Amino acid sequence: MMQKVYLGIGTNLGNRENNLKEALNMIEAHAGKVRSVSCVYETGPWGFQSDNSFLNIVAEISTSLSPFELLGRLLMIELFIGRVREGEGYKSRIIDLDILFYGDEIMETKALTIPHPLLHKRGFVLVPLLEIAPDLVHPILGKTISQLLADLDDSADVVRVGKLIR
Ligand code: AMP
Repeated sequence: MMQKVYLGIGTNLGNRENNLKEALNMIEAHAGKVRSVSCVYETGPWGFQSDNSFLNIVAEISTSLSPFELLGRLLMIELFIGRVREGEGYKSRIIDLDILFYGDEIMETKALTIPHPLLHKRGFVLVPLLEIAPDLVHPILGKTISQLLADLDDSADVVRVGKLIR
C-alpha cells in the first residue's frame, strides 16, 4: 500500500544546494518516488555567517515503506551524505531529514513522532509546504497548512531563493 509522505530537508554546511540534490537522489533511490519538490528557501539572516544559514525544501514522496522502515532509510541517507563530505573537511551534520506527515498517521514513540511535533511552529517547514500542499490538513490540529502558517508569526525570515535544478 502506497502512502503519501511529506519530508522536510534542511542543510547549513558545505555545498548546501548539492546536499539537497544528493538527498533527493538518495531518497528517490532508497525511500520512495519523489512526486513534488518545493522551491529552496533560506532561513536567516544569521548576520555575516551566511554559510551557517539554512537552505530548506519540502518534498512529497510516495512510498510502500512503513514509518520505521522509512526513518531507517532516512537516517542511512543522512549518515551517507555526512560521511561523503567528511573527507572534504566538513562536519558530519550537513543534512537533516524529517518525516513531517505520513498519510494521516498519528504516532508517538520514543524514536518517531508523526506528524513531526515541531512542524507547525516552524516557518521554514510551513512556507515550503504551503507551496506544494496548501490544503493538507494536520491530522491532530485539524488545520490546513495555510491556516497553520497564518497562526505563526515567525515566517518573515524565510526567503525564497529559487528552484532546485536537478
Ligand atoms: P534530529 O536529527 O535532531 O532531528 O533528530 C533525529 C531523531 O529524531 C531521529 O533519530 C528520530 O529517532 C527522531 N524523530 C522523531 N520523530 C521524527 C520524525 N517525524 N522525523 C524524523 N526523525 C524523528
